[in-house]
Amino acid sequence: MIIFKSINTLNKEVNFKANIGFVPTMGALHKGHISLIKSSKKICKKTLVSIFINPSQFNKANDFKNYPKNLKKDIAILKKLKVDYLLAPKVKEIYRNKKNSKIKLKKKDKVMCALYRPGHFEGVLAVINQFLIKIKPKHIFFGEKDYQQLLLIKKFVKNKFKITIHNCPTIRGKGNIALSSRNVLLSNTDIKKSAYIANLILNFKRNMKRDILFKKHLKNIIYKINNIKKIKIEYLEIRNKINLSKNYNRNNFKIFIAYYNNKVRLIDNY
Ligand code: AMP
Repeated sequence: MIIFKSINTLNKEVNFKANIGFVPTMGALHKGHISLIKSSKKICKKTLVSIFINPSQFNKANDFKNYPKNLKKDIAILKKLKVDYLLAPKVKEIYRNKKNSKIKLKKKDKVMCALYRPGHFEGVLAVINQFLIKIKPKHIFFGEKDYQQLLLIKKFVKNKFKITIHNCPTIRGKGNIALSSRNVLLSNTDIKKSAYIANLILNFKRNMKRDILFKKHLKNIIYKINNIKKIKIEYLEIRNKINLSKNYNRNNFKIFIAYYNNKVRLIDNY
């Protein structure tokens, strides 16, 4: 694996006209990231993974500071997977111009995480924009774990870049918890609570699939979850999975949650 600390050197060494798959990450790699890398390796001749903890997508300084990092371990994982290139750029290189650190969202897109984490997706779109302008890959891979992010990126790149976006299903661990880099910040007790929440919502979803009118019990689920010690829901919403509107039926809905588990903010969708 060749490790690049700068996009300039990456561009000098690698010809992106070739069939190269790009998997952007913030590191602290887990099986969710690995599934994206494996998809890229299946479809593309070469795979580039980036590890960049993007400061402009954090709306709380402490969250940025505490975000899990383990570059050594990540490199070992990537080497084992036979990834071709790793890009670990410096903040200065990505945001030479401060103007590039945010991309505005449309008002109608400001729901769920876009509403509760002001500036977050503006920062995500900005870094993806910088990567795509500077690297020009033909294939890029994202996880459905960050479903709202995936839809926003799809919309953003649509008429701007010639690129195929591949979405990969959410990988879950023990107790149906969605794998996340932030899970290392959870204790065993916290993990049990997250598993309980995941299964509660999965069960609720099954009931809604059988009878859409079951949606009226959502408030009971919210009540149950908020009654767990040190758990606080930010939002728990049912939305149309195509456009995130509240207009949905039993075939096109998804359930979205963001909550704090002992101060760690987690998101998931089912
Ligand atoms: P992150 O490092 O959290 O920014 O995530 C990098 C990419 O991995 C994003 O496209 C995520 O959606 C994806 N990802 C993170 N967790 C999972 C998971 N549990 N299953 C599938 N993809 C994931």
